[in-house]
Amino acid sequence: MSQDCIFCMIVAGKLPCGTIYEDDDLLSFLDIGPISEGHALVVPKRHVETLSDCPADLMGRLAGVLGPLSRAVVQAVGAEGCNILLNNGRCAGQLVGHLHVHIIPRHPGDGVFTEWPAQSYPPGRMETLLAEIRSRLPR
Ligand code: 5GP
Ligand code: ZN
Repeated sequence: MSQDCIFCMIVAGKLPCGTIYEDDDLLSFLDIGPISEGHALVVPKRHVETLSDCPADLMGRLAGVLGPLSRAVVQAVGAEGCNILLNNGRCAGQLVGHLHVHIIPRHPGDGVFTEWPAQSYPPGRMETLLAEIRSRLPR
């Protein structure tokens, strides 16, 4: 547990939350500032900050509950789908430094996430970029 981490305090029961699901490793609860009704979070109970700090087996467990949890949330609010979002790192919008996955129910025309600033690669850039990325993968 990290002393100044709000999600560690929730996991430890020192702060209240609307619990959806709990097991030995994971906790899911309603987001206090929902983007849409039912907006939920799933966190590992153990304090890890980002995706790359999280052991693969723990991330696998977290990924494994996303299907049933998101289906339950979507059905409960009468949504048609959801976004699964992980803000990884401060510049990516991660305000709470304890790894968490958002489940955000979506309805047609709800106006959530309206911007998707797609770009394109100049000739040759994709090939050099692929080499840069592949050379950094663990072997
Ligand atoms: P981030 O921007 O770090 O990906 O998202 C953090 C999320 O945690 C936000 O959506 C915010 O509303 C939520 N949050 C922050 N503090 C609390 C809290 O004390 N309780 C709950 N349930 N959610 C919180
Ligand atoms: Zn924490």
